[in-house]
Amino acid sequence: MTDFLSPAERSDRMSRIRGKDTQPELALRKVLHRLGLRYRLHRAGLPGKPDLVFPRYRIAVFVHGCFWHRHDGCNVATTPKSNTHFWLEKFDKNVARDARVATDLQALGWMVLVVWECELASAKKAQETGERIYKMIQSRAQGIVSATD
Ligand SMILES: [Zn+2]
Repeated sequence: MTDFLSPAERSDRMSRIRGKDTQPELALRKVLHRLGLRYRLHRAGLPGKPDLVFPRYRIAVFVHGCFWHRHDGCNVATTPKSNTHFWLEKFDKNVARDARVATDLQALGWMVLVVWECELASAKKAQETGERIYKMIQSRAQGIVSATD
């Protein structure tokens, strides 16, 4: 990907259009659709408004920006050198919120999957990520079937 933005600037731009259809999200949707998976978007009625949901399997998927949501060990998750305190506070809030949302969804019986932006950074990566989700859905589906046997 060629652009002239630093990761922080790019993430900032991404976050501003958050809630709309971000590029990584579109990449994932394309792969999932091609794998024959059908999902719903931005379920406002659920905690944290997951980006994609598979209602039948009660799976909620979040596509997280690595910078804002602090992808552990990811080189996009840098900490700005100026206003560091401000940023750290902001990041802490985001991370705490994500954890709370995941707990709330799990309490409602949902399985929560987080897909990181960097896992969708190329067509190849998006494909691999989509296939990983596909497998999780399959094993979840089997669990649901055997639970009702
Ligand atoms: Zn990342």
